[in-house]
Amino acid sequence: MGEVEATVIQQGHKDTEDTEDTEVLLPQLLRITPHVLTHEPMSKHTSFGIGGSADFFVTIQNRGELERLLHLIQKYHIPFFIIGSGTNLVVRDKGIRGIVIKLGDEFRQIIVEHNIICAGAGVLLSKLVNIAVKNELSGLEFATGIPGTIGGAIVGNAGTETGCIGDIVNRVEVLSIEGSFEILTADNIEFSYRNSNLKKYIVINAELLLTKCDFLGIINTMNSILKKRQNAQPKGRGAGSIFKNPEGAFAWKLIRDILPKGMRMGGAYISSKHANFILADKEARADDVERLIVYIQDCVRKDCGVELVTEVRIVGEG
Ligand SMILES: Cc1cc2nc3c(=O)[nH]c(=O)nc-3n(C[C@H](O)[C@H](O)[C@H](O)COP(=O)(O)OP(=O)(O)OC[C@H]3O[C@@H](n4cnc5c(N)ncnc54)[C@H](O)[C@@H]3O)c2cc1C
Repeated sequence: MGEVEATVIQQGHKDTEDTEDTEVLLPQLLRITPHVLTHEPMSKHTSFGIGGSADFFVTIQNRGELERLLHLIQKYHIPFFIIGSGTNLVVRDKGIRGIVIKLGDEFRQIIVEHNIICAGAGVLLSKLVNIAVKNELSGLEFATGIPGTIGGAIVGNAGTETGCIGDIVNRVEVLSIEGSFEILTADNIEFSYRNSNLKKYIVINAELLLTKCDFLGIINTMNSILKKRQNAQPKGRGAGSIFKNPEGAFAWKLIRDILPKGMRMGGAYISSKHANFILADKEARADDVERLIVYIQDCVRKDCGVELVTEVRIVGEG
């Protein structure tokens, strides 16, 4: 079996049965925020449009609520998972136990001061790109067309061959699992290819260092990046590139050379436009996607001796 990366920030043990959990926890969660959903289908919150339900889906509006929620999580050892826009996720068919946390209003603020932009973790990257261009600030052009939030982008060091978010991060405010807010400066953060050492934190906001540039120069770069993306990438329900490029090779080329175009498992199939994209039909299950991922990994390992590592995160219970 191939290896897939499962990211759950903290997985505690369950002390009670499901119904008891709901009965005990729901009133306590509702004392923190009214924005609590139970048995919420994760298909509504992922770009793949698949995945089972989260026991609790809680939208947190401000720091106070977040601190109180984390306190509750610690007290009862509740597993939790923080979600951005769900554009880099495969949620398994039996869903996510515990609490899925989404950052709301207070985490969607943007402040521009000279050549620095401070953005809440819940801000959409696409919005930030637009704000940067309006302020004639260069540095975020690489992010044109990348979906998702700043939080997701920072944790996964989102980017393309033209740049990545880690290149422009000045500092990041995080909340530790123990419940303390901390400021991490660029030299304390390790960004690597689609990865960072921030997975153990909740990202609250990030300060990005940009450079003044003329509006037309930025727009021209963005347009050419967007055109390239549109030519290369398929439309449909997916999560972008499934695998990271291995050292000295392109995942899409390895896959294209050994597997038939459009190869499918159940409702999941390899895009015929870009072999590193898996897309999902309406009736697809997460299991179809995961089986296809593992099959591709096995074939590439056998034929090329290369271990493909997933860029997409696979979470929850299958
Ligand atoms: C069509 C398409 C094209 C794409 N193209 C690219 C591309 O060119 N380059 C690229 O890098 N990616 C690309 N992606 C993948 C995806 O858009 C990025 O990985 C994005 O940064 C994920 O952000 P998100 O908010 O959706 O995160 P999610 O998918 O919601 O979460 C991803 C991870 O980040 C964690 N996370 C999210 N928010 C926080 C937070 N505040 N604190 C701590 N952890 C957090 C989650 O726990 C999870 O582990 C593409 C996706 C699609 C659908």
